[in-house]
Amino acid sequence: MGILVVGSVAFDSVQTPFGRVEEVLGGSGTYFSTSASFFTDVSLVAVVGEDFPREHIDFLAGRNIDLEGLQVQPGRTFRWAGEYGYDLNEAHTLDTQLNVFERFSPVLPEAYRDAEYVFLGNIDPELQLRVLEQVRRPKLVACDTMNFWIDGRRDALLRTLERVDMLLINEAEARQLAGEANLVKAARKILDMGPSSLVVKRGEYGALMFDRHSIFAAPAYPLEEVFDPTGAGDTFAGGFLGYLASCNNLDAAALRQGVIFGSVMASFVVEQFSLDRLRSLDYRDVEERFRRFQLLTDFEGIG
Ligand code: AMP
Repeated sequence: MGILVVGSVAFDSVQTPFGRVEEVLGGSGTYFSTSASFFTDVSLVAVVGEDFPREHIDFLAGRNIDLEGLQVQPGRTFRWAGEYGYDLNEAHTLDTQLNVFERFSPVLPEAYRDAEYVFLGNIDPELQLRVLEQVRRPKLVACDTMNFWIDGRRDALLRTLERVDMLLINEAEARQLAGEANLVKAARKILDMGPSSLVVKRGEYGALMFDRHSIFAAPAYPLEEVFDPTGAGDTFAGGFLGYLASCNNLDAAALRQGVIFGSVMASFVVEQFSLDRLRSLDYRDVEERFRRFQLLTDFEGIG
C-alpha cells in the first residue's frame, strides 16, 4: 500500500550552532517523501518554480517517488530561512517566502485519488483541504501544521482537523492550538477538534501518542552528534506513516511500532544538514537502529 503526500518542496537556509547552509533542498513534502520511501511507494503533490534544479528532481525520482503530482510553475520555489540556538528543539523562522505556493492549487492525477494513506504535510490548511476533497476513500488521513498556520489560518485549520484521523505536531504547537499549557489537557482538547489520535513530537525528548484511552511514550534516540534538526518532524512522520502503509495495519501495536520507526528516521536526518544523511542511508541501518531502540527501553529482559 503506498502513501500520498502533499507538502512543501523548498530551498532552506539554516543556521545552527554547528554551521550554516544556504538554499539547500528542504520542505515538508521533501523530507516526508524521502523518509517514507524507505518503507513504501510514495506519490508527491507539490509545486516548485522554474529555478528548481534537475538534480533535486533526479534525487526524488531516484528514491522511487512518483512525481506526476509535482507541478513546475513560472516563478520562484518556496523559500524558508530559520535558525536554532543551543536549544535545538526550537526553530526560529527568519523568513518565509511562499512564492509559487501563493497561487498553487493542488490537482491530483487520477491515479492518486484512490490513495488509502494520505499525509497532509505542513502547508496552508486551505490547500490541505483541497487535497482531501479529491481523494475518494482514504483509510488514514494524517496531518501536520505549524505556528505560522495556527496563527494565520486558524479557521481553515479547524475545518481541516474535522476531517483528519491523526494530527502530528510539536509540543509548542499543541499548546498553541489548544490554548492550554498542560500537555495532557491540550491533547484532550485537540482530540475534541476531530482527530482520533494525536502525536506530539518533543525533539530530543521523544514523542507522545495520545488517543481517548491511552498514551504511548517513545524516547528519542540519544545521539552524540546533532547538526541540524530541520525536517526532523516530517522525517518522523514519513517513517511512521510509511511503515503503517507498508504493513497496511492500524492496530495499536502497529501504531506503536510506527512511532519507533518514525523516531529512527528522525534520529538519522538530524545527523547532517538538509537531507544529506538520508542520501547515504541503507534500510539495514534503519533495522539496526530499530533494534537499538528496543534495547533502550527494555526493562524486562537483558537490556
Ligand atoms: P520540520 O523541521 O520537520 O518541522 O520542517 C521543516 C521544513 O518545513 C523546512 O524544510 C521548511 O522548508 C518547511 N517549512 C517551514 N515553514 C513552512 C511553511 N510555512 N509552509 C510550508 N513548509 C514550511
